[in-house]
Amino acid sequence: MKQQLANFLLKGGRMIDPAANRDGLFDVCVCNGKIEAIGENLTSSGVTVIDVKDQIVTPGLIDVHLHLMKGLGAFGVDPDIFGVGSGVTTVVDAGSAGHTLLNVFRNYVTDSAKTRVLNYINLSTLGVVSGPGYSILADPRLIDEAKIEQAVEANRDIIVGIKIMATGGALGAQGLKPLERARKLGDELKIPLLVHIGESWTKDSAPVHVGDVLKYLRAGDIVTHMFTVHPGGLLDGNGKLWPQVRDAKESGVLMDVGHGLHNLNFDVARNVLDQGLHPDGVSTDGHRGNRAGPVYDLPTTMAKLMALGFTLKHVIELATANAARLLGRSNELGTLRIGAAADISVLKLEDREWKAVDSQNGTILARQAITPIYAIRGDTIYEPLRVERP
Ligand SMILES: [Zn+2]
Repeated sequence: MKQQLANFLLKGGRMIDPAANRDGLFDVCVCNGKIEAIGENLTSSGVTVIDVKDQIVTPGLIDVHLHLMKGLGAFGVDPDIFGVGSGVTTVVDAGSAGHTLLNVFRNYVTDSAKTRVLNYINLSTLGVVSGPGYSILADPRLIDEAKIEQAVEANRDIIVGIKIMATGGALGAQGLKPLERARKLGDELKIPLLVHIGESWTKDSAPVHVGDVLKYLRAGDIVTHMFTVHPGGLLDGNGKLWPQVRDAKESGVLMDVGHGLHNLNFDVARNVLDQGLHPDGVSTDGHRGNRAGPVYDLPTTMAKLMALGFTLKHVIELATANAARLLGRSNELGTLRIGAAADISVLKLEDREWKAVDSQNGTILARQAITPIYAIRGDTIYEPLRVERP
């Protein structure tokens, strides 16, 4: 459901915009798709008033890790399902396409979506053509630096980094060599690496030690699946953070949630958080196989973090200002700016008890739920799709 309006006023909502240090009752006036005014008690004649009393108005939410190439493999999902259909205005594909598929991605995914769709190009030429359980980096010919460079240079407007599966299953006999090659590419192209940790797909191969992976990462690179329970995660056999993890975090390596079918475990999360390591981004790792649970959408994943002790403001900061920084897009995303194209999420915070379920069917009692009300891009207001949230 969507409607287009030349002029409208979001009236009476609580605005939470951490990057702008705003938390309070502020109205937003949108004129011809641009934010014309933000202020208390705005009035305007000749505009449509949208009552958002008792609702939360935020910069457009950003989901930094999903699988968005509908029709490719078992997981590709239409970006507008987890995007504007979930109150989210920006979604980021994590490595569906290697360099050979990037133009297809651009033409058929990014350009045809209602949601803004950004992309991490896969280090492997195969991308996810063969599914996550295959050894996509085990043959050295499957990394083609020159072709990746060409694809990145031609698509810098949508590419935010390089995706690497740092699992024993994906790397195979190549061991850490693909990470070395990714490091060089990242340095040359000046884009970050997004690294999947956790042996979630290939149980029979020797896991890669996270400390070995982190040797190749620098400030601004991202580790996704920080709360995975699978071998190769952030914790040692005694549930303590590997020392290399703390060092990496201190040196500026970023940590992302990446919920997914396998990689949000509440016990691991509590343990990691208790040891003082906090996420720099929140993401669903959304795909076709987890929309109906345990993931549902980004607002539900944010509410799960709240059940783990985060404040509303903190989870909104993760999904807006922090996400924009993680993507290197703080100049255009993550905050509401007068004169910029409208990019706004409207949410509802409900005080109610519900059972939050993690990727291993572990549960915790959550006391607040977040549901999307609108995703707004320019002059278009999208209502969320129906999904049976818990
Ligand atoms: Zn993923």
